[in-house]
Amino acid sequence: MEKSLIVRYSEIHLKGKNIKFFENMLLKNLRKSVSGIECKVSRTRGRYVVEDYNINDEFELIERIKRVFGVHSLSSAYIVESNYEVIKETVLNMIDFNGTFKIVSNRAIKTFPMTSMEISRELGGDVLEKFSHLTVNVREPDHIINVDVRDNGKTYIFEKIIMCSGGLPTGCSGRAVTLLSGGIDSPVASYMMAKRGLDLEAVYFHSYPYTGDLAKEKVITLAKRIACYTGKISFNVVSLTKIQEEIHNKCNEEFMITIMRRFMMKIAERIATNTYADAIITGESLGQVASQTIESINVTNEVVSMPVFRPLIGFDKLEIIKIAKDIGTFETSILPYEDCCTVFLPAHPVIKPKKEMVYREEEKLDVDALIEEAMSSIETIKL
Ligand code: ATP
Ligand code: MG
Repeated sequence: MEKSLIVRYSEIHLKGKNIKFFENMLLKNLRKSVSGIECKVSRTRGRYVVEDYNINDEFELIERIKRVFGVHSLSSAYIVESNYEVIKETVLNMIDFNGTFKIVSNRAIKTFPMTSMEISRELGGDVLEKFSHLTVNVREPDHIINVDVRDNGKTYIFEKIIMCSGGLPTGCSGRAVTLLSGGIDSPVASYMMAKRGLDLEAVYFHSYPYTGDLAKEKVITLAKRIACYTGKISFNVVSLTKIQEEIHNKCNEEFMITIMRRFMMKIAERIATNTYADAIITGESLGQVASQTIESINVTNEVVSMPVFRPLIGFDKLEIIKIAKDIGTFETSILPYEDCCTVFLPAHPVIKPKKEMVYREEEKLDVDALIEEAMSSIETIKL
């Protein structure tokens, strides 16, 4: 008997007329995720099936599919003809355990001659007859055998349901530029928005030689980790050196971070427009640092006209760290390399910047020329 993987999708079933669009997108993303492993991925009414693979590849297939956004859960299953004798043979063959069990049946098609209750009862009896050392426990069984009679003439028989990433298929919500630093927050923010179906274009501001190659490598490692969930990501490295030096030399140092962040947002918007993205993502969390107060966010937000998504705005640091650990970015994020924001960090950054004062400081700079120069410094790496 050959095994297959049954892949179930999450929220997509809530989509009315658009469901085909989401289903096709997920099929495409599933196929991309398993590339390099010989197998067949197809769609069958409300499910996807991965079959014709070498059983030695099953673990790797599960690991990859688990990370695909839009997948709710999966099971390693036997797919057989919907015929009681065939179902019974399969169940009797797959039992290799001791202890207690329960059969859970589900009948999606009423033309199958037995109700789900009848299937469970009959199969339970057949199992007990062959395996006298087993007992039934419907409340807390050691093993559950699921028998899912589908409406396509097939029955899926499986033990475990493996929970997956959930969310919406990457790309179905459009594209956004994510501001990715080497910190803990922005990789989590990127992950969370990608999970809502956004395709990501990453932007990293580098301050060479104040921040070195190791700092850049660290952010690339983080972007690659996120790409394990989203598929390929374009990674744009923008040089912030000149901008930081100019602000440092010409402006009141209290406004260093505020003005620098206004530059970051403007450049992010330019990159978004050039790459057909319609939103910006940051890892800001309200009140976490001086640049994340309402006043600071207001004065940095006003320089752009596209939506800025801040999925972590209401999260505590500990909650963010928990997600970072779950998605595998935490260990990299805590590596001790300088971030561009820390290089020229003023002793007392302004916490509630007054707009007029920010404008007055910023007027000392040739903002447009600095942005043009930064734009021409961009190095794009496909990850
Ligand atoms: P993080 O942990 O994500 O670095 P943080 O707590 O250090 O965040 P800030 O330094 O204020 O906070 O940065 C706020 C957000 O601005 C970051 O979450 C990120 O989205 C963006 N950002 C900061 N520095 C950079 C950078 N060098 N390149 C790209 N984006 C950056
Ligand atoms: Mg940071």
